[in-house]
Amino acid sequence: MRSRWMSGLAVAGLLALETIGVAWRPAGDIGVVHQQAASIEHRSKQVRVDTASPSSEPQGVHFSFPFFFGPAVKIVTYGTGIPASEVTHIQNLLNRVNAVQRIRDFLGVRMNHTATIVLVKNAADYQAELRQLGVSAGDASSLSQDSNGFTLGSTVVIPLFQNPTDVDLANVLTHELTHVDINQHIANIPSWMNEGMAVYMGMNGQKAIENPVDFESDEKQDAENILQVVQSNQLVPLTGSEAAILSGQETYDYELQDWLAVCYLIAHYGKSSIQTLVHHLESENPNQAFLDTYGESVSAFNAQFTRALKQSAAVASGGASLELNISPSYHGEIFVQPPNQALGHGFKAEPGTHHVIVTTTGQVQADLPSIGTKKSKMPATPGTMYVSLLPQRFDTMDGQKLLDAEMEIQIQNGLYTFENAWVELANNPMYNPSYVPQVLGVSITAIHDEASDDPILTMLNAENA
Ligand SMILES: [Zn+2]
Repeated sequence: MRSRWMSGLAVAGLLALETIGVAWRPAGDIGVVHQQAASIEHRSKQVRVDTASPSSEPQGVHFSFPFFFGPAVKIVTYGTGIPASEVTHIQNLLNRVNAVQRIRDFLGVRMNHTATIVLVKNAADYQAELRQLGVSAGDASSLSQDSNGFTLGSTVVIPLFQNPTDVDLANVLTHELTHVDINQHIANIPSWMNEGMAVYMGMNGQKAIENPVDFESDEKQDAENILQVVQSNQLVPLTGSEAAILSGQETYDYELQDWLAVCYLIAHYGKSSIQTLVHHLESENPNQAFLDTYGESVSAFNAQFTRALKQSAAVASGGASLELNISPSYHGEIFVQPPNQALGHGFKAEPGTHHVIVTTTGQVQADLPSIGTKKSKMPATPGTMYVSLLPQRFDTMDGQKLLDAEMEIQIQNGLYTFENAWVELANNPMYNPSYVPQVLGVSITAIHDEASDDPILTMLNAENA
């Protein structure tokens, strides 16, 4: 799941929004004219577009059935080449993630119409399906190349080729179904709230099935993107993102900022405050709904949230502690090489759960017997730390001599994230690299950043609320 959000400026220019069949109001009141929301998920970023649906309901009219017995989700395919087993797979994944209930519990409102999920296999079918939904030819063409999901009203399109893993699918399905639930209950919601809630839930669905260290690393890397925007003084106010997207001025992934804003709200006011906000949004304009929920204006909140991001961007790294789980099958040594250091700090492996602490000055302590330091074969690298495994005796793997194994940890903005793990064989220096932090029976089971006063860590913890 690394590099899920590729940086890029292409999106703003990519969407000629006017061509989606929308009568645009002046930018100044974009926040109050929404009817149906189309949400377009880009691989690099996810941009929400508001359109009048082809059969648009009169504004403010909502059908709500107190007893809705239809299926919550219907999965169909468009085009050829998608076997029935793939439909079953998506259905099983939705059940495993418990996506519909998860969203309902979060928003406090349940879907009252069936959501239709259309699976497409390739860019040509994706484009054709978007055209059928009323997207212009030009936009359908570009979206089919680089978006990983699309929602209009209660219809979701999932391009399978853009979501190769179950973790990708868990995220995009939960994200899009959150938009569907919002679309069915709220006529008027600003982009930052809509996307903030959808990204939060997409991450939440992902978290339900992903290795926890991988998940937290994904979260932290997404947060690092925004901290770097803050450091370069390019952050726009939450309410400015919509206008910037529409005018082609989007310079970074606003959705990650929206997500952090929702995380901030959850961290400071509780997860149930989102239900209160949604409840107010059902009948009030967004500014009033926010005020009634949080007791402050959106602009006051934006100032407070921006201050927290700036504070976080200025916090220095406090080091980290790693939790290692060593299985009885691993016999050998473990070397920890902090960033910018040529030396690895060695320990004798013992089965069980252990902790390794790396300080900002590059000291390494562990509750394992120390065997001193040794020059590492990996060069000293700023922002990169290695945990190397040196087995006691050389086994073979895939017919080759197994030399050692590495786990790589990246450090940016003071945040420690797991990157990948691999084995070194005699004829293959990077055999079988994996995103799961586990190799030769040794796992990293937690990475704890020691900068306890860093506001970003409080925000990220909201995914555990
Ligand atoms: Zn979205």
